[in-house]
Amino acid sequence: MTFSVTILGSSSALPTSKRFPAAHVFNTHERLFLVDCGEGTQIQLRKYKLKLSRLERIFISHLHGDHVLGIFGLISTLNLLGRKAPLAIYAHQEFEPILNKNINFFIKNLQFAISFIPIEANQKKSILFEDQQIIVETFPLKHRIPCNGFIFREKEKTPNIKKHLIEKYCIPLSEIVRIKQGANFTLPTGKVIPNSELTYLSSSPRSYAYCSDTMFFSKLAEYVKNVDLLYHEATFGSEMASLAKQTGHSTASDAAKIASLAKVKKLVIGHFSSRYKDIDPLLTEAQQIFPNTSAATEGDIFKIEANRVKL
Ligand SMILES: [Zn+2]
Repeated sequence: MTFSVTILGSSSALPTSKRFPAAHVFNTHERLFLVDCGEGTQIQLRKYKLKLSRLERIFISHLHGDHVLGIFGLISTLNLLGRKAPLAIYAHQEFEPILNKNINFFIKNLQFAISFIPIEANQKKSILFEDQQIIVETFPLKHRIPCNGFIFREKEKTPNIKKHLIEKYCIPLSEIVRIKQGANFTLPTGKVIPNSELTYLSSSPRSYAYCSDTMFFSKLAEYVKNVDLLYHEATFGSEMASLAKQTGHSTASDAAKIASLAKVKKLVIGHFSSRYKDIDPLLTEAQQIFPNTSAATEGDIFKIEANRVKL
């Protein structure tokens, strides 16, 4: 089952001839969730052959143009393509009237429903969306305006029962469902076999966290603790640390420190200032603190494989 992230934009506020403003696509079982929607996102979706019809939800981290200006053109295109399926948009409350005004002015006869779900600024970690497969959490970042990060997590799967124990303890079919729901099993002798001994998860749930834009703050590591894939902005190198702080951004070292404190499995850095023609120094800076780091480039796909749990 797919669990991957495609980079559509790795630049910060000023795009370059090679780098687009912020946008990621999270793919879970071929359902596409767009994370931020900088200008040109719809072109990038086409370029990397991501089916627009599979786009289900859009999550906007904050209301700076490089994270949101692509949404109006994208909605217009979806309408021209005859979309009928509803689209959910998650953003800070101030965006709703801006969105409605633009749609009313530029898009005549919108053929599909848009549901706007406000993200509360300065809230603690909370759940934005949940269904049988996936949970999307949000948490506050520290930027010049209200800004939120997101975590996309696979739902815990129903545990399996170890086959050899079904035979060993002669567990009847009627008990199997109860054990899968967490019950212990009592032998005819009265001895209780605990659930943890009887069951196992076939794979552990996968997770991807998105953090852009933010300055360094150590609590962020708690929010993204143990995720499989952490995307963290690294607008500057450490030689620009004071500008990073002033503008509410992070250096490559800051991003790597968070990855290290949070004990994530992999770090991807992005949102690079256009002043860096070569990203290698930023990548090297991060890797000195957190070796398993990659630098985002348009078209990169980061796949998280299911971690099979060994019995
Ligand atoms: Zn910003």
